[in-house]
Amino acid sequence: MSVIITDTCINCAACIDECPVQAIVDEDDNPTGEEIYYVYADKCVECVTYHDVPACAEACPTEGCIVWGEPTEGMPHSETRQSSGTPVID
Ligand code: SF4
Ligand code: SF4
Repeated sequence: MSVIITDTCINCAACIDECPVQAIVDEDDNPTGEEIYYVYADKCVECVTYHDVPACAEACPTEGCIVWGEPTEGMPHSETRQSSGTPVID
């Protein structure tokens, strides 16, 4: 995994254009069928080389909505990464 958007997402769209690698899709394109935004783990680079903290979480107005997932093998890992399930930004 990478970062994960949780079910507290309010579909506000603040995150989607902030992602430098187009890893985020909206509720219409969520492959799980959930009515929330979704991050593709095989695309998310945790904003490494782009930003100091994940830009999606920084833009998100919903407290604790975006959390760390498990690191994805072969993908960049942020130095600020916390344990899985921890909010990226409180
Ligand atoms: S952490 Fe960065 S790369 Fe990953 S989904 Fe959020 S904005 Fe995109
Ligand atoms: S910014 Fe947060 S609440 Fe808004 S769509 Fe993205 S994850 Fe959902």
